Amino acid sequence: MGFNRSDINTNALKVTQRLSEGGFTAYLVGGCVRDLLLDRQPKDFDVATSATPQQVHRLFRNSRIIGRRFQIVHVRFGREIIEVSTFRAQHDQNQSSEAGHILNDNVFGSFEDDAVRRDFTINALYYCPGKDQVLDPTGLGINDLQKKRLVLIGDPATRFREDPVRMLRAIRFKAKLDFSISQKLERTIQSKAALMAEIPPARLFEEVLKLLMAGRAKKTYQALKHYQLIETLFPNVADAGPNQTLIELALESTDRRIENGQPVTPAFLFAALLWDPVAQRHNQLIENQGLSRADGWVAAGDQIVAQQQSTLSIPRRFSGTAKDIWCLQDRFEARQGKRPFRMLAHKRFRAAYDFLLLRRDSGEPLGALCDWWTEFQTADDVQKQTMIDSARPNRKRKPKRKPKAK
Ligand code: ATP
Ligand code: MG
Repeated sequence: MGFNRSDINTNALKVTQRLSEGGFTAYLVGGCVRDLLLDRQPKDFDVATSATPQQVHRLFRNSRIIGRRFQIVHVRFGREIIEVSTFRAQHDQNQSSEAGHILNDNVFGSFEDDAVRRDFTINALYYCPGKDQVLDPTGLGINDLQKKRLVLIGDPATRFREDPVRMLRAIRFKAKLDFSISQKLERTIQSKAALMAEIPPARLFEEVLKLLMAGRAKKTYQALKHYQLIETLFPNVADAGPNQTLIELALESTDRRIENGQPVTPAFLFAALLWDPVAQRHNQLIENQGLSRADGWVAAGDQIVAQQQSTLSIPRRFSGTAKDIWCLQDRFEARQGKRPFRMLAHKRFRAAYDFLLLRRDSGEPLGALCDWWTEFQTADDVQKQTMIDSARPNRKRKPKRKPKAK
């Protein structure tokens, strides 16, 4: 197993070179070494070094120390960032909470210490540019890479207790690399799934984004369901039911778009994941509380998103788009007067229309409506008017309540 030096990012090499000229040890580490050995394009290049964050920062003017729990240094080259972390030792007991979480992971250590605190053996491989050599301090990484095995370093239950995100990483790498995991690891994930509740909602969002936006969303989703992790991420998403088809279609379409190099937004996926709970809440609100259909969508969207924030928080820029997608669904049915034109000009028209097609494909009786909107978009002005004139409202709306006399 090997790779060409020319496949290595030149900025990453500049960083290791300057560090070693400064008298420090510096290696490329983690996913980039793993991916280079697997002949895959690394997503980013990380450097591990014996220099402290302050020492790194002094060597690079274009650098910034970030983080509290993990202090790392970002060295910036234009739009690219090389992440530099200091060799760290495994925490000792008095630095973990009662539950076993790592609270302070900034204890510097040797290169060997650094290796065993990493998650998987295949992620604990180091490349020394000076010697053009791959180092495998656990002695297992290269072998596991060749055998396509994802093996956690240390005792799985302890490592998951320290950081439950490692369970999500196991699923991510399994799906991304097509590696196998042992039955013991599988069972440990299933038995420790509840630990996920302890991860801060913002960190969970970041991890789930990596899981779902890497081109293997459908496979990953199925694995999350298999390991009973999905309910810890999205408590509102039922395990079974009609919605599953819609969710899987949305995931498939995301994977396809990534494969074709088309833009994707996580908002669309969140809209699909939460569609069933939102639609159910919408029904309750209009039936029990007498809200109008339009007000019902706004309230249902707000409530379900608010509930979601306590486990996995979706930033407003995405939840806002998801809410627009939900609210616009009813408006496809209003095809009189100027409304279809206003709809077409709406900044979320495209996403909402794609969502309408998704609902049709998942079995909702929306064929005729979808065809109408598909045609309407490309029709010329005269044709558009004819289409509007001949469109019949297919749902009787409640007559507007007269304002009460004062
Ligand atoms: P990707 O291809 O997604 O970038 P990666 O393995 O490089 O995969 P990163 O999140 O970039 O993942 O992390 C870089 C390295 O840091 C990992 O390879 C691993 O060695 C270590 N690491 C990251 N997260 C953890 C964690 N939660 N616990 C232990 N080690 C971790
Ligand atoms: Mg990486």
